Amino acid sequence: MEEIVSLCKRRGIIFPSSDIYNGYAGFFDYGPLGSELKKNLKDVWWNHFVTQREDVVGLDSSIIHNPTTWQSSGHLDGFSDPMVDCKETKLRFRADQLFYAPVILQGSRVISFTFKEVIDATPEEMKLIPSPASGKPTLTAPRDFNLMFETRVGAAVDDSSVAYLRPETAQGIFINFKNVLNSSRQKIPFGIAQMGKAFRNEITPRNFIFRSREFEQMEVEYFIPPGDDVWEPYHQKWMDASKDFLLNEIGLREDLIAWDVHEGNKLAHYARACTDITFKFPFGTQELMGIAARGNYDLTQHTEGSGKSLEYYDEETKEKYIPHCIEPSLGVDRLLLAVICSAYAEDEVGGEKRNFLKFAPKIAPIKAVILPLLKNKPQLVEVARNLFEKLQKRGYNVQYDAAGAVGRRYRRADEVGIPFAITIDFETVEDDAGVTIRDRDTTEQIRIPIDDVIPYLSKAIDG
Ligand code: ATP
Repeated sequence: MEEIVSLCKRRGIIFPSSDIYNGYAGFFDYGPLGSELKKNLKDVWWNHFVTQREDVVGLDSSIIHNPTTWQSSGHLDGFSDPMVDCKETKLRFRADQLFYAPVILQGSRVISFTFKEVIDATPEEMKLIPSPASGKPTLTAPRDFNLMFETRVGAAVDDSSVAYLRPETAQGIFINFKNVLNSSRQKIPFGIAQMGKAFRNEITPRNFIFRSREFEQMEVEYFIPPGDDVWEPYHQKWMDASKDFLLNEIGLREDLIAWDVHEGNKLAHYARACTDITFKFPFGTQELMGIAARGNYDLTQHTEGSGKSLEYYDEETKEKYIPHCIEPSLGVDRLLLAVICSAYAEDEVGGEKRNFLKFAPKIAPIKAVILPLLKNKPQLVEVARNLFEKLQKRGYNVQYDAAGAVGRRYRRADEVGIPFAITIDFETVEDDAGVTIRDRDTTEQIRIPIDDVIPYLSKAIDG
């Protein structure tokens, strides 16, 4: 993992936020390559789940909602993690499990808990927790810590100005259900998709961008008719669609993903089912995304909270009902981390070790690098610059690299995951013999006419 964090900084993918002030725990900045990669992931998601579907429409709601939203949704009362405090150092930790096992350390007195099982602390942090020499427990019992960030809206200094940064994008969808229904021509079943920032005051932000305090989500609420036997096929379809997206659109390695079906006590009280897609990160197998069957909990809560009916009238059956929904929910940053872990590769080229990023062309931050064989030959440079500008105009993020031996330039391109390296040599300009395109993964080169470069890239990138 350390290698990945350092690679991300070196290559301009991800920086610690406020780096010149020694960073800020749980916040990150995306550099030139990272911002491009993130944008590509979001574009591919939107394209796959909104543009290419007749039954899903988009939404871009505000980040700060009327605070009553969070009262109705249950977040004000229940969006919390159990937290324990170290009484002596005042360090705080997330209790990883809702139960904790007391350990009897002195005679029959219970003075501490089994740290590893109970709290989300790193070995370095555990060393900071003093052993309870006094005979008194060092850690408090777990208590609820609400994860929502508070802010103030307007000039009033009393409680009336308190508002919250959204901890998920989903509620923006529920409170707009009627607006979207009345303004689009959708009929149930249909979905509303939204992507955007979410904020959680995580007690222990961890594992780089895996658990941060500011992150982005991509969520769909797919509204369906009520009924005990209705939701299951829809849930299955969204599980299949999510897996298809991760493997075939994003290009995640299949051997690194798995399913985790939530049973009884892991299931939110209002949910009928929830299945996570997990990813094998270097720090362990963890949730990448969740696909939940949420019943009609949210729309019912907002009906009660707002006093406005959020019922749907089914013209065919002449029935009115509060729809149920299926919610596929994916974190952009977590996906980006999974993409980097999945793409990180090592092999040997010409007897030398090579580290490279095997991004699928569709999501690669830079699609191609244009290499004039020599930088001081105007006829090569002119053709190379023309091709470079033509590709830029076509909408591809491409790079121009004329410095150093071609072999070194290939290496630089491989390290940042550029799938295609296009070389302009003397044959290109003198014999009109086309350009060479080198494939990053196989290092094989083919020669194609210069006018075929755009169709070639378009097939490889856009499919
Ligand atoms: P976890 O159990 O890891 O805290 P969660 O079950 O609370 O996650 P959800 O509320 O279901 O997560 O959020 C949906 C998705 O949003 C997650 O699958 C994950 O991809 C992303 N996500 C949630 N919390 C964070 C976070 N703190 N940092 C980055 N991504 C997050």
